[in-house]
Amino acid sequence: MLFQIAIDGPSGAGKSTIAKAVASRLGITYVDTGALYRTVGYYVRSKGVDPKDAPAVTALLPEIRVDLDYIDGVQVVLLNGENLGDRIRTPEISMYASAVSAIPAVRAFLLDTQRDIAKKRSVIMDGRDIGTVILPNAQVKIFLTASDECRATRRYEELKAKGIETTVEEVLSDMRKRDHDDSTRAVAPAVAAPDAVLFDNSWMKPDECTEAVLQQIILPKLGLTV
Ligand code: C5P
Repeated sequence: MLFQIAIDGPSGAGKSTIAKAVASRLGITYVDTGALYRTVGYYVRSKGVDPKDAPAVTALLPEIRVDLDYIDGVQVVLLNGENLGDRIRTPEISMYASAVSAIPAVRAFLLDTQRDIAKKRSVIMDGRDIGTVILPNAQVKIFLTASDECRATRRYEELKAKGIETTVEEVLSDMRKRDHDDSTRAVAPAVAAPDAVLFDNSWMKPDECTEAVLQQIILPKLGLTV
């Protein structure tokens, strides 16, 4: 039997950290769906197209091939065969990803890539609409949140570690804008599914949060003990 675990929530809520740790504990595949939108955003930027211009972005889609692959268990997203690595992780590409993700044709374009992987493997998938749209029948749905200040501090530390210069204030203001746009858009807004468990992990250490999410939510729902 294949497991489907959906983790949604705003940026910097710790979704990827928790999902990666849970994936390794359960021996299942972690899928970072934000990377797919980032990849489309990257292409749109490289073509000098306004990411809010839906017809122009839609016209670019036939030129784009986005493949999801795993190398030694680590997810790699390929844009027309090329691995972009950390080039999709900049604050600018975050904003491009958010803008293109509001376009219905972009969401439709990436739908099968996400569903197909969950047909072949047990997954823990993180994103914004996994529990509501991509995997509506997931056995476990979690909506992970944390306070704005806490999320901005985490994101800032992540960017700093990657050598990207910014300030906590700048990250907080970008994050609020992106979260507002993501949660109020007309298609697949970032909201909790009615059957999702809400979990606030403000100022919890990653290990502590992983343990709590596993023991209190995931294992009981899957009827497992590890
Ligand atoms: O999760 P991450 O910050 O990498 O996502 C980048 C952007 O991609 C988000 O701000 C959101 O607009 C979009 N996204 C989405 N649906 C998903 C995952 C990401 O709309 N399932």
